[in-house]
Amino acid sequence: MQSTRFLAIENILNNQDSTSNIQKTFTGTDLYNALVFDDRAKKKYLIKQAYESLLQAVVLGEPIDRKSADFIANGMKNWAIDNGATYYTHWFQPLTGKTAEKHDSFFEVFPFSEPVNELSGKALIQQEPDASSFPSGGLRSTSSARGYSVWDPSCPPFIMEIGSGKTLCIPAIFISYTGEALDLKTPLLKSAHFLEKASKEVCKFFDSSVERTYINLGWEQEYFAIDEGLFNARPDLVLCGRTLFGSPSARGQQFEDHYFGSIPRRVFNFMIELEQEALKLGIPIKTRHNEVAPSQFEFAPHFELVSIATDHNQLLMDIMDRIARKHKLRVLLHEKPYNGINGSGKHNNWSISNDKGQNLLEPGKDPLNNLQFLTFYINIVKAVHTYADLLRASIANIGNEHRLGANEAPPAIISVFSGDYLRSIIDDFLHDRTQSQKQSNSIALNVAKISEVQIDSTDRNRTSPFPFTGNKFEFRAVGSSVNVSNPMTVLNTIVGDQLVHFKKEVDSLVENGKDQTSAIKQVLRRYIKESEPILFDGDNYSKEWIEEAERRGLSNIKTTAEALQVYLRKEVVDLFSRNSVLSEAELKSRYNVFLEEYIKKQELEAVLCVELAQMHYVPAAITHQNNLITNYKGLSEIGLKQQAEIVKPQIEKISKHIEAIFSISSQIELTLEKADSMHDEYLKALMFAKEIKPKIEDIRENVDSLETVVSDNLWPFPKYRELLFIQ
Ligand code: ADP
Ligand code: MG
Repeated sequence: MQSTRFLAIENILNNQDSTSNIQKTFTGTDLYNALVFDDRAKKKYLIKQAYESLLQAVVLGEPIDRKSADFIANGMKNWAIDNGATYYTHWFQPLTGKTAEKHDSFFEVFPFSEPVNELSGKALIQQEPDASSFPSGGLRSTSSARGYSVWDPSCPPFIMEIGSGKTLCIPAIFISYTGEALDLKTPLLKSAHFLEKASKEVCKFFDSSVERTYINLGWEQEYFAIDEGLFNARPDLVLCGRTLFGSPSARGQQFEDHYFGSIPRRVFNFMIELEQEALKLGIPIKTRHNEVAPSQFEFAPHFELVSIATDHNQLLMDIMDRIARKHKLRVLLHEKPYNGINGSGKHNNWSISNDKGQNLLEPGKDPLNNLQFLTFYINIVKAVHTYADLLRASIANIGNEHRLGANEAPPAIISVFSGDYLRSIIDDFLHDRTQSQKQSNSIALNVAKISEVQIDSTDRNRTSPFPFTGNKFEFRAVGSSVNVSNPMTVLNTIVGDQLVHFKKEVDSLVENGKDQTSAIKQVLRRYIKESEPILFDGDNYSKEWIEEAERRGLSNIKTTAEALQVYLRKEVVDLFSRNSVLSEAELKSRYNVFLEEYIKKQELEAVLCVELAQMHYVPAAITHQNNLITNYKGLSEIGLKQQAEIVKPQIEKISKHIEAIFSISSQIELTLEKADSMHDEYLKALMFAKEIKPKIEDIRENVDSLETVVSDNLWPFPKYRELLFIQ
């Protein structure tokens, strides 16, 4: 029987492009928001009172009264039905990191009357999914399973089209009977609200007429694309999202020719269809391109309010998977699907702006004399310095553990890149110079017909986990598979807290007679000195940085378990509770859920690794070895003794690897049994990271080594060169 590997490769030739769903000519504006209950739709379907009450809720967070809710629900339902929807659902983001839905039909029958399509205000506002089906980390037991999803009017409803079914999705938060958050969105909204307030107060130092600020996020989603047949032929990709085995392909990413290279046709068609669907759902996709590694790509939208951007990223990950399948492709969102090849991140471009249309992180032409910019910039650096470990915790998961702090990846040290120009501005500010020493400049290219280029005020540093990139910070260490709510909640909260603290310090100096500007400068100068260790512009991937960071006293938290434990530190509990973002119980529950997820996934990897090695790779190696033995015997029989000796070392080598695989497998099994009987989840997670994970790597090394000697036609699963280069 032919192996799935060869069937998959053969089938690729038959995998036709599926272009039927692609609209041939379109512009973004034609499709944008076609399936969103946006302002246009609201104006058309809502009576004036309902429209205004919804607007107040969106803009000012005012509660919506019952009567208006009924009107809004009715208008929303009519819009949805006009657009072909027959069901509605609250769409929320439980602690699994995925999205959840429970569909109900608009259709209602009441006794003695005609059936109707209905959505009441009550149903719009509140639903009751069974909370016991979602992780709560101990916040509630199965016997008290009540949980509510509650409409979040700040994020627009949309219609999800799956096959021929259309469903009105109403973004919602998810809380327990006792009011604790059971989702990722609730603390995100609270943290954004808190930072808006804190940054508005600080803005008022510079312009007392500022009434609002906005927290913006523009994410960049990296991913790998792979043929569906090849994907299905790799049990490790199917079950764990990453390859547990695979010897490096002769061709890897050494040619550096993939980045911005031309996009393969099938992937291109997938991208176009995805882009069209995304636009219809209101996700303002702007760029699509190849990434550094072979078969790695990226999508990035225009930035939006952090809450909406988060919804949109969740939605995008969801439709990416669905549309890829239509093109017989699969997307890999895992942080490190392939060893020896770049991993994937989700770069979070983050900034704060105000109602005067100003980006508070825009340095402008003369940053040295832009005290508002310096204030926000320096406070953010200070917050990152104070809470670096918490930022590290916010991006901890099993996938990122392979991407950060592993052999080839950037270390798990948080630092901020600011670039030469900004460094010199900060230095000038520190030393009270009024004229900056260094000019932001333009380059005359001296190429005929090509215009002069304006150089960005910062260069790029692709190795920095948290660089300042011109007029925003880019949290690059976030994993590609995650819901961004967590890292954004942490970032909003630490910066908000820092700004509150800053304002207090300035106010107190002013009360003691100092003028406001001098007070601001004095506090900022102290902050610069205090947060100096977090600033690093060099190569974050270098060995020297790891040593240097240690000298500076920066943490390098390698394992997920240790990173997650930061959530339980007293200063972290205090931070979240004093700013009403998360209570101690909520934090603890998150810690439990994330730790449990880590353990379950590690366990799956360990079990699968042993199973694949013993049931698939070793038998292939034995078949090959038997062929060699036959060859050895045959050669000896016909008197070619010397030639026969040549194959002997290969036979021995295979035995050596097989022996190692069996021996490590039994060690893994023993350790798994030990883990099973452990009650301390933290210690269990540590054991997975420190004892079991290295053993999985050991098995891999042996199998990968076998891959280089076993006959190609006996190898059971697709090889790296096939996974990475056939599209
Ligand atoms: P870069 O070339 O530095 O990656 P781009 O302009 O291509 O920058 O933007 C990358 C991402 O950053 C996009 O999602 C974009 O919307 C987002 N972005 C740009 N400016 C801002 C900003 N002021 N605040 C938040 N995100 C931003
Ligand atoms: Mg980028």
